[in-house]
Amino acid sequence: MSLRTLRTTDDLIAAGLAPSMSRADLAAVAARYATAIPPGIVDLIERADDPIGRQFIPDPAELITAPHELIDPIGDDALSPVTGIVHRYPDRALLKPTLACPVYCRFCFRREHVGPEGGVLSEAELDAAIGWIAAHPAIVEIILTGGDPLILSARRIDDILTRLGAIPHVRRLRIHTRVPVVAPERITGELVAALDTETPLFLVLHSNHAREFTHAAGDALARLRYGGVPLLGQSVLLRGVNDTDAALRDLFETMLTHRVKPYYLHHLDPAPGTARFHVPIAEGRALIARLRGTLSGTAIPAYIQDAPTGKTVLA
Ligand code: SF4
Repeated sequence: MSLRTLRTTDDLIAAGLAPSMSRADLAAVAARYATAIPPGIVDLIERADDPIGRQFIPDPAELITAPHELIDPIGDDALSPVTGIVHRYPDRALLKPTLACPVYCRFCFRREHVGPEGGVLSEAELDAAIGWIAAHPAIVEIILTGGDPLILSARRIDDILTRLGAIPHVRRLRIHTRVPVVAPERITGELVAALDTETPLFLVLHSNHAREFTHAAGDALARLRYGGVPLLGQSVLLRGVNDTDAALRDLFETMLTHRVKPYYLHHLDPAPGTARFHVPIAEGRALIARLRGTLSGTAIPAYIQDAPTGKTVLA
């Protein structure tokens, strides 16, 4: 069993997770994009190109930017009135308290921004972001994202949620996270208590393959459930990870087994160097259409595409 998070070229080579790459290629990718593969995920990787390895192991193809790929594919930067806030819809805003994650996904649409150096909003920046929300009464829902907000300490999360909950017009909170499956040990009693808010709060779990739901992940999700936290699931349709009927069926049924309602299946956003994960929209629509014929409606998420102007439901 692995004991520590793999972060460097040497870590990956020592773990035997870069079999077809030269050290120079690996170092070039690592210099551009962050890498972190926590122990529980390392243990799930059987081959570098299996559905788990593909999501997290750097690949030289990441250095090739296709003509249609964009640094900021859904236009977050242009919609940021103050540091840490993205305001795309009249009634909702994103709050990004950190740009760090416990794991770095090779297909991330914020890959040019996320990383351990992305850090945490300073006190002054957080004050300004929360002040901006308080000054905009049309905003009724705040989505905490990042990075991964649940990489912060339970005390920090409690403080942020308490401050947001004190704003009268904020009626709903959402947290987008991968932590319950990639770092389940972070779902402590203290964290679950912090998520027990007066303001309705939904946790939206990002997972892309049924094998991510390990025993430890199942226990973490149970702790959240027993703490009264409603659980939704979001996934990205990814070539070589979940682009088959069987893989999607298994993923969505596994989510439901853990009382996670599949909510969104995202079409891949065109971030730089992610072309190897691309699945054409027609293929995604056909996958969903076949699942609708054979799977309970409760297991089928909306297949959506994000754009700077908003979401399009594809199926
Ligand atoms: S956990 Fe989310 S924000 Fe972090 S690298 Fe993965 S997709 Fe991007």
